[in-house]
Amino acid sequence: MIVQLVGRLLGKRMTRRRRKHGWRLLVTVALVLPMYGLLVLHSPAAQAEFPLDLAAVRALAESLPGDKPLAVRYEQVGAFVFYEAMLVAGDPWRKTPLPIVAYQLVFPEQTILIDTGLERATASHTLMLPQFNDAASAKVRAAMDAAAQIVITHEHEDHIGSITTAPNLAALKPKLRLTAEQFANRAGMKPAVLPLAPLADYTPLHYDARYALAPGVVLIKSPGHSPGSQMVYVRLADGRELLFIGDISTRLRNIELERERPWFMTVVIGEDRKAVLAELKTLHQLMQTNPEIAIIPSHDGAVLKMRTDAGLLVAGFLPPPAPLTGPPAADDLAPDQR
Ligand SMILES: [Zn+2]
Repeated sequence: MIVQLVGRLLGKRMTRRRRKHGWRLLVTVALVLPMYGLLVLHSPAAQAEFPLDLAAVRALAESLPGDKPLAVRYEQVGAFVFYEAMLVAGDPWRKTPLPIVAYQLVFPEQTILIDTGLERATASHTLMLPQFNDAASAKVRAAMDAAAQIVITHEHEDHIGSITTAPNLAALKPKLRLTAEQFANRAGMKPAVLPLAPLADYTPLHYDARYALAPGVVLIKSPGHSPGSQMVYVRLADGRELLFIGDISTRLRNIELERERPWFMTVVIGEDRKAVLAELKTLHQLMQTNPEIAIIPSHDGAVLKMRTDAGLLVAGFLPPPAPLTGPPAADDLAPDQR
């Protein structure tokens, strides 16, 4: 009857053949619509909360003696172009850029890198990377050489990429703070491949829930988006706080709405959907209870701009220290050495 009604609405007399086609169309729509809803539009409610103990994190940030970071700088090495529907379940199929960023914590006497982006060697294999900034990539490479420590929020190509392609990986080994979970998840790094020979006898970082990396800097284990995902809490010397959440959510919008990526992206990425939903719920609560903590998703251009405009993030890495050549200038010597 419905098929006949459709036919009448279309002003066509239903022949047996048209009725058959009509039924096929209806059955197809009846099957596809719920599947589309489930795979693309639906985001279930979180069944649990992520155990984020903010008091413990803040205490750890104060546990190591020394100067806290003075500033957070960044370089954007490129940008993916995705569809919004791939980032937040139910959002439209509209193209949107996703910046790929490496961060530099600037201490008085040292720097620490959070994420390294990727280099052209691996970016060339990435279909959704239409733009690449070679100058920024070179600055990340130099910053890796100059850094005291290098951490990544997780082991995916756009975060670990520049480590995997580093020609001096063996020299970087002592400062590389890959966690045991990140180091073990070689499949999750693809298409990036972490060479093992330069990392022979490398000891990855083992910790339970939290780890004090440096004064004011705390790693927070948060698997879900990948087995090796972790957040990086930073308290600056002036007291301002940031929370680098990697790709728990691609953008802040997931946290504001408490909505996951669509299920088909969860499957493509290989996420633990329950774990990510719990993290989104907890981060949503954190936004309400502690709005002073700046949550920084890895690929949110609007957050990057907002925090840069506010002076919390600074565009551009510090230039690497000039290599020492020849005897030091007289001004560089202590008075009793002149
Ligand atoms: Zn990413």
